[in-house]
Amino acid sequence: MVSSRPRTYSVEAVVVRASDFGEADRLVTLLTPFSGLVRAVARGARKPKSRLGGNVDLLRHIKASVNEGRSLHSVSQVQSLSSLRGLHSGLEKMSTGLYMAEIAERFSVEGASNPELFNQFVQMLLILNAEPMHPLMARWFETQVLRINGFLPTINQCVDCGTELEPQGHVFSPERGGIVCPDCRASESDVLLPASLNTVKLLRHLARAEWQEVRPINASEDDLRQVARILKEHLHFVLDRNVRSTAFMDEVNRWRPEN
Ligand SMILES: [Zn+2]
Repeated sequence: MVSSRPRTYSVEAVVVRASDFGEADRLVTLLTPFSGLVRAVARGARKPKSRLGGNVDLLRHIKASVNEGRSLHSVSQVQSLSSLRGLHSGLEKMSTGLYMAEIAERFSVEGASNPELFNQFVQMLLILNAEPMHPLMARWFETQVLRINGFLPTINQCVDCGTELEPQGHVFSPERGGIVCPDCRASESDVLLPASLNTVKLLRHLARAEWQEVRPINASEDDLRQVARILKEHLHFVLDRNVRSTAFMDEVNRWRPEN
């Protein structure tokens, strides 16, 4: 048997989950760029004079020392990297941030490096912190996370037969993961969501644009609703498959060389 000596390392992280633990501790899940999710206990964090204190609350962007334990890791020397005060002061911003944290967490596993996902998440938190709420913030984040992980829906041609799409008559099939043409529409009995031409254009734009190019868009209520529904259902199907393969991904990561 290989003896694993406990080791300590320093990580940049965002707290994506936090709960009370024991008498005065907090149990946190950190999203990190190179180690995926790290679960650890912040000992004494709920004591009034703890130096960990607020730095291990939800959506804190921190640098921390992780001390690997045999059964449970712990964090110490936590340092705040971004203030994100605007984010923590408003309910709508906080709940949007928590929703994004949930998405980021569900696309991550313990020990798996994904710096692009991490950077996207931090960038999104900084935008959310600094700017007024925008209905496309969450949609842009969802689309970027799908792109980074290789799960973008098929929106340039029919997902079934590959035909170029006509300007109208689009529907989206979450089950098939993309837009279907009128010919393929009738062939299955799955749920089909309406997708106007504007909605399709908006989905394409969200996938390839930077936030500065998304911010000026003033989409109609109908288009926003269609885009939100399509992305929500698509994410649901992707994550459902993804979650089932988590055990496999954990297995793969165990064989990956360490950074
Ligand atoms: Zn087709």
